[in-house]
Amino acid sequence: MPMSPPNSARPIVAIDGPAGAGKSTVARRVAAELGFTYIDTGAMYRAVALAAQQAGIPWNDEAALVPLVRSLRFRFLEPRPGESGLEVNDEDVSERIRTPEISLGASQVAPWPQVRAALVTVQNQLGAGGGVVMEGRDIGTVVFPHAGVKVFLTASDEERARRRALQLQAGGREIEFEHVLREVRERDRRDAEREHSPMRPAADAQVVVTDGMTQDEVVSLLVGLVRKATAEL
Ligand code: C5P
Repeated sequence: MPMSPPNSARPIVAIDGPAGAGKSTVARRVAAELGFTYIDTGAMYRAVALAAQQAGIPWNDEAALVPLVRSLRFRFLEPRPGESGLEVNDEDVSERIRTPEISLGASQVAPWPQVRAALVTVQNQLGAGGGVVMEGRDIGTVVFPHAGVKVFLTASDEERARRRALQLQAGGREIEFEHVLREVRERDRRDAEREHSPMRPAADAQVVVTDGMTQDEVVSLLVGLVRKATAEL
């Protein structure tokens, strides 16, 4: 793991935003184009929800969740198309963390400050050397407030639900659009209204609304922002 301080040519790129804004695919592609490491912090919250479920720990039991989180060793695998690979304690959880139930579980373990603190410690280590694209809800505000590039990627609720429904269908799940829309809104509400590290754009983040933009356009906009930021230094 690189532990040298981030250098200006290989900054930390923080990408935050709500569910279904296309963050993951865009962040993965931006990292690949720049030759940076991609880190999906949402996958870590999902992995905590899965581990808790397996251990019979309720998602609202902070006291029991904290030692559990501290016992998890995270290892990000080389990203595959459409998926961020993650091993937890040597077990590949990449697929099992992607169910709608675990999405909800992740947003239920995420409000607990000590759960967040334990994950933020790991995220700080993972990004310490720079040259990373880190994606989540609080990267530009809490995890790396001094990130060299900060983007808040968003889109209208309907657009995000439409994309999410397509993603689920591609994975073989048939889910009604209205149901997905309700889930997306419920998760946003939880993420934006929680007391600790709520989802919000950092004051110095570039807010990008992706309605009507192709994925290629979003990727080249972001790569351009990183190149501009590094050229200015
Ligand atoms: O990004 P993803 O949808 O996989 O994240 C799952 C959940 O994990 C989010 O709804 C949010 O509750 C939580 N999360 C968080 N902070 C992050 C990343 C994810 O609270 N940095």
